Amino acid sequence: IPVDPFDLVIFGGTGDLARRKILPALFRRFSDGQMPEDARIIGAARTKQTAAAWTKWVHEALKEFLPKEELGKTLVKAFLERLDYLAIDAVGEAGWPELKAKMRDDVTQAFYFSVAPSLFGALAERLHSNGIARADARIVVEKPFGRDLASAQALNATLAEHFAETQIYRIDHYLGKETVQNLMAIRFGNVLFEPLWNAQYVDHVQITVAEEVGVGGRGAYYDKSGAMRDMVQNHLMQLLCLTAMEPPNRFEPNAVRDEKLKVIRALDPVASTDIVRGQYVGKSSYLDDVEDPASRTESYIAMKLHVANWRWNGTPFYLRTGKCLKARGSEIVVHFKETPHSIFEEDAGNKANVLSIRLQPNEGIDLRVTIKEPGPGGMRLVDVPLDMSFADALGHDASHVPDAYERLIMDVIRGDQTLFMRGDEVEAAWAWTDPIIEGWKARNDKPVDYETGSTGPEEALMLMHRDGRRWRDLA
Ligand code: NAD
Repeated sequence: IPVDPFDLVIFGGTGDLARRKILPALFRRFSDGQMPEDARIIGAARTKQTAAAWTKWVHEALKEFLPKEELGKTLVKAFLERLDYLAIDAVGEAGWPELKAKMRDDVTQAFYFSVAPSLFGALAERLHSNGIARADARIVVEKPFGRDLASAQALNATLAEHFAETQIYRIDHYLGKETVQNLMAIRFGNVLFEPLWNAQYVDHVQITVAEEVGVGGRGAYYDKSGAMRDMVQNHLMQLLCLTAMEPPNRFEPNAVRDEKLKVIRALDPVASTDIVRGQYVGKSSYLDDVEDPASRTESYIAMKLHVANWRWNGTPFYLRTGKCLKARGSEIVVHFKETPHSIFEEDAGNKANVLSIRLQPNEGIDLRVTIKEPGPGGMRLVDVPLDMSFADALGHDASHVPDAYERLIMDVIRGDQTLFMRGDEVEAAWAWTDPIIEGWKARNDKPVDYETGSTGPEEALMLMHRDGRRWRDLA
C-alpha cells in the first residue's frame, strides 16, 4: 500500500549511514511500489555539490549495497529522479532559505537527523527559525541517544523545545527487524505461548547479540562508549522489554511503550558478581584497535538480570553481546522448564522446550519439541525443531527479508511511532545503566581477556554454569 506523498530531508545525506542504510532502504520501498510518484528525498549536508553529483553518489551507494538484480535500469532512473540536494550548514545560515523554498505545504514532512547528536539542537532550532517545519513535521534521530541519563535528558529537552513527543522518532533499528515484530505476533497472536510465558513455565531467557568483527575504524568512538552503552542500554534492553512486557491492550504506540517502560523500571540493580566485562586479545587485540593502550572499555558484556514483578519472579534473563566472537548471530531464546513429572524412563531422552527467535543471520523462529524417535526401539524420545525460518515457511529467500530501515522509514511517513523509543523509555534505560557504569569507574574495574574468535570470556561461561545452565552455542 503506497504511503502518502512526502518530502523527506536527510541531514547528513552524504554520510555513512545514509549511504549504507537509509538510501538503499528507500530504493527498496520505491521498487516495491510503496513510495508514491511525487515523493521527494532531499539530501542535505555540508558538502557543496549539485543535485546531479549527489544523485550519482547515491547511485554508486545502491550499486554497492544492493544486489545487481534488484537494480533495474528504468527503476533506478525513476528513483533517482525523486532526489534533490542542498548544501546546508547545520550551525550556520547557508542553505536554509533554499530549503524553505523547496518544501511543499501539502505533503507529509519528515526530517532525518543522520548527523552527530551535537547538531540536533542546531537543526531543530533552524527548522523553526526559518519557518520550515510545520506542527505536524516528523523528525528521526539515531543512536547514540545520550551517553548517560543527564545527556539523554538534555537531548530530550533540546528536541522538546521545538517538537512535541508525537513528532519525534527515535530509531533503534532492532525494533524494525522482521523477527522482532514476529516476537509480538507469536506472543500475542497465538493462544499457545502466553499462558506459559511466565516464571512458572520459563526456566530462563537468553538474549545474545554476537559480532565477528572488532571495532575496526570506529575505535575512537567505540572506546568512549563500550558494549554497555553501545549495545546493552539500547538494543539488548529493547529486546528484553519486548520479551518480558505484559500484553499491551492494543498494538499502538503508547500502549506498547508503556509496557516496555514498566519492564525497565522493574529491573533490579545488578550485582557486580552478575556481570562479566571482557576485552578481546590475541590475533586481533582491542588495545591495538583503540588509541589508549591502557583502555578499560569493554568490548564484551554478559549479565544476569531479574525483572522484579509477579510474572518473572525467579526467572533470570541472561544477556550477552560482544565483538570478535566466534560467529555473528543475534537471538532471543526462551528456555521452558522440564515437564513437572516424567512418565518415561529416566534416560528416555525428553528435553525441555526451547523457543528461539533469530534476528540474524537467517531470520526465523524455531521451537524445539519432544517426539518419539521413529522405529520399534521402545519409547525413545528426541527433540526436533518446528522450524519457521522465513525463507522456507514464507516462500521468499532470506535476501528479500526487508531491512529494518525499510520498515522504520515507512512508519515515519505513515506517522506510526509503535516501533520507536519514547523519551521516557530512553531515560529509564540510562537511569538503570548509569549506576553500573559508575560502579566500574569507582572501582577502576578492568575487563577480563577473551580470545579473538572464541565464544567469550571463561567468566561468562561460569556465570551460567554456577546456575546449572549453559549458553547456547554461537552457530
Ligand atoms: P558520517 O560522519 O559518515 O556523516 C555525517 C554527516 O553529517 C555528513 O553528511 C556530513 O556532511 C554531515 N554534517 C556534519 N557536520 C555538519 C554540519 N555542520 N552541517 C550539515 N551537515 C553536517 O556519520 P554517519 O556514520 O552517517 O552517522 C550519522 C549519525 O547516525 C550519527 O549520529 C551516528 O552516531 C548515527 N549512526 C550511524 C550508524 C552507521 O552505521 N553509520 C549506525 C547507527 C547510528
